[in-house]
Amino acid sequence: MKFIELSSGSSVKGELIRAYKSEKTMSDNSETKYNYILGAVHGDEVEGAHLAQQLFQWLRETNEVDLPVIVVPVVNIDGYKLKTRVNGNGVDLNRNLPSAQWTPEAREAKYFPGVAPLSEPENKYLVSLFEKYPPRFILSFHSWYPVINYNGACKELAEFLSSFNKYPIEADFLTHPTPGSLGEYGPQTLNAPVLTFECPVLSETVTLEKIWKENEEGFKKLFTTKIIETFKA
Ligand SMILES: [Zn+2]
Repeated sequence: MKFIELSSGSSVKGELIRAYKSEKTMSDNSETKYNYILGAVHGDEVEGAHLAQQLFQWLRETNEVDLPVIVVPVVNIDGYKLKTRVNGNGVDLNRNLPSAQWTPEAREAKYFPGVAPLSEPENKYLVSLFEKYPPRFILSFHSWYPVINYNGACKELAEFLSSFNKYPIEADFLTHPTPGSLGEYGPQTLNAPVLTFECPVLSETVTLEKIWKENEEGFKKLFTTKIIETFKA
């Protein structure tokens, strides 16, 4: 499928945040809602960023998919370049969104939520995309221990992916609250369910190639069998 590049965002350090939208199809209209693919909200999670990039590359090459899609391969470009979780202001972007639970408290420095909700330019840019191109579903790639976390009505998609990669599914990080996260903000404010997809991290036995291989079929089928179009969000 063909993509066009949208106007870029700008990070704290003035780097471009690139975003791509699938070319308009016959079925697109003013009511169109988009499937979002986000990578590297946490800049040091190279494994998740790799999955987002591989999936995007495949989407560009395939003729089998015809869906409204928006891809932001590297949301936290400063953190990605500096290999840090946080952005150029030391803020965890996945704690800085204006959800009902946002709090200035952080359990650890790496979860610093910023001085106010939506204080960070990277999140302002994301929200501007969400306003212009409303999401139907958001897939955000991270890496930690393998788990598919779903917020809002996308359990079906989590189960579908899990049937391929055998990662466990969690409805919420119950033992690990995430105030100001996309998982809270998406369903609350945008009425869009969110999959926070945590893939394994690199180790002696885990390579980027291996992580893509164990996920390739699931993601390709997720898009080609159109479960994304038919699940009841
Ligand atoms: Zn993360």
